[in-house]
Parts: sequence; structure tokens; C-alpha cells
Amino acid sequence: MTASIIDGKAFAATVRAQVTDHVTRLKEVHGITPGLAVVLVGEDPASEVYVRNKGKQTLESGMASFEHKLDASTSEADLLALIGKLNADPAVHGILVQLPLPAHLDSDLVINAIDPAKDVDGFHISNVGLLGTGQKSMVPCTPLGCLMMLRDHHGSLSGLNAVVVGRSNIVGKPMAQLLLNDSCTVTIAHSRTKDLASLCRSADILVAAVGRAEMITGDFVKPGATVIDVGINRIERDGKKKLVGDVEFQSAAAVAGAITPVPGGVGPMTIACLLANTVTACCRANGLPEPEGLTA
Ligand code: NDP
Repeated sequence: MTASIIDGKAFAATVRAQVTDHVTRLKEVHGITPGLAVVLVGEDPASEVYVRNKGKQTLESGMASFEHKLDASTSEADLLALIGKLNADPAVHGILVQLPLPAHLDSDLVINAIDPAKDVDGFHISNVGLLGTGQKSMVPCTPLGCLMMLRDHHGSLSGLNAVVVGRSNIVGKPMAQLLLNDSCTVTIAHSRTKDLASLCRSADILVAAVGRAEMITGDFVKPGATVIDVGINRIERDGKKKLVGDVEFQSAAAVAGAITPVPGGVGPMTIACLLANTVTACCRANGLPEPEGLTA
């Protein structure tokens, strides 16, 4: 293996420590406690684990955590009414509705009902537009975490060729936008892209956000490139359950200059960035300077 490992777990711990420092200062100097409200509808086991982790880390950072668990049969009107209340609550600076929502609920309608200033997931259409036009916005947590690791590793990203594989609204598109805002030359690939391997080999920065276990192998990687593996895939190998990324780690690490592992890469950064976004939202709501290094 030649690549250096980008340790997302350690990086996330650093981000959380910065967040905790800011929270302490907000409390001691300004008497403000940042608050994050998380809304979970239904009983999806994976979502329950995410929500539990988010609540735990929110409290550990000194912020207030407000958890709202609603029945799977909750009506759209009731969910919108709760969001209205959270929008109006001055103790709540960030609101996150855990996705996916049960099929009878319109996710776009629900997300767009959140006050954009409290939209710590960065999925509200206003934040998408602000990011797309290079204006100050709330930035989706997973791409923000990837950007932080890339900036830390490279310093300036200006002029680098970036290929983002995946065009989802929550990862691929905002990731591409962030890289473009940092002056990369960006190509977005997807399921219809022709000759994906050779396109990926043009990338100084290769971000895989596909959802296909180990699809990106070493022959997709330009020697010395930085590979960010967003994928989280649960597979069974040799009778054992395993978590793997979208990148085949061994073959890619033999060619890349740097690579994020799965687990321990992008995953831990996502919740750390959620906490960072909540502090940012709190500072903006109170007209205070934003924490440096925790936003795009
Ligand atoms: P989506 O399913 O929404 O999007 C997947 C994208 O991959 C689509 O744009 C799709 O193209 C593209 N794609 C699928 N197959 C191929 C292929 N064979 N070649 C090229 N492109 C392909 O997934 P998400 O963006 O939500 O998530 C991607 C991965 O990231 C998943 O593994 C998910 O679990 C993980 N994830 C991890 C997070 C973290 O915290 N680490 C957070 C969020 C997601 P098309 O549009 O043409 O269908």
C-alpha cells in the first residue's frame, strides 16, 4: 500500500473539540446554549441508531438536544405543525428531519417547511440555491465533512481536477458544488456515464458516492490521487457481516496518494459537521461571528 490514510475518526474528534470550545464560549460569554432538534418519524432501525448517536454527541458537546419521535402513521399536517413550532422556538437553532420519511409523507414539502436558517442538513431549496450561487448557506453535512478533509490534506484545492461519482441531492451534487466553489475543475459522473474508469483516472480528487460495494477499484485511480469514499455498504463475506465503501480499499490504496477508509473515514465527519452547522446556525441567529474553519 502506498496511500496515506485520511483518518476521519481523528479529524471528527478535532472538529467536535472545536465545536465544544465554541459552545462553552457561547454559554459563558453570551449566555446562549445552541440547541438541535431531531425529528424521527417511524421505527427504521438504521435511522434510530443515527438519531441516538446524534443526540448523544449533541449533549456531549454541551448543546441542548431535543428529540421528537413520531409514530410511523403521523399525518403530514401534524409533522408540519411540529416543524412550525420548532421554527418559532428560540431555544432551537438547528432542525433535522431524519430521512427517509415514510412513503405517505412528502419529503420535499417537509424539508422546505424548515426555516432555512435552522436547516442544519442544508437540504432546503433556499440553501441549495445559496450554495449554487456561492453565497453563505447551510451546507449538507457529508459533503462538508469531505471538503474539510480535502482542504486539510491539500491546503488549496484550486485548479485540481475532481471527479464526483454520484449525483444525489444529498451528496453528489452539493459535493461537486463545494469543489467548484473551491476552484476545482469538476466532473460529475453517474450511472449513464461512459467509460467511467478512464474518466476517474483523470481525477486528482476522486469522490465516490454511489452506494455500490467496492465498485471503484485501483484501475479507476490516477497514481497519487486523493480518494474520498462516501459509500456505506453492508455486505456479507466469508460468513461475516462487514461494512465496506464504494471503493475497493486495497487496490485503490496501492495507487492513490491518500484515501479515506470505511469505516473511519467520511462517516464520523458527518455527525461532527451536523454539530458544527448547529453552532454556525446559532451564531448567525444571534448576530455573532461564525466559528472559523467549521463552515464552507
Ligand atoms: P443515491 O442512491 O441517492 O445516489 C447514487 C448515485 O450513484 C446516483 O447518482 C447514481 O446514478 C450513481 N450510480 C449508481 N450506480 C452507478 C454506476 N454503476 N456507475 C456510476 N454511477 C452510479 O445515494 P446517496 O448519494 O444517498 O449515497 C451514496 C452512498 O453514500 C451510499 O453508499 C450511502 O450509504 C452513502 N452515504 C454515506 C454517508 C456518510 O455519512 N458517510 C451519508 C450519505 C450517504 P443515477 O443518478 O444515474 O442513478
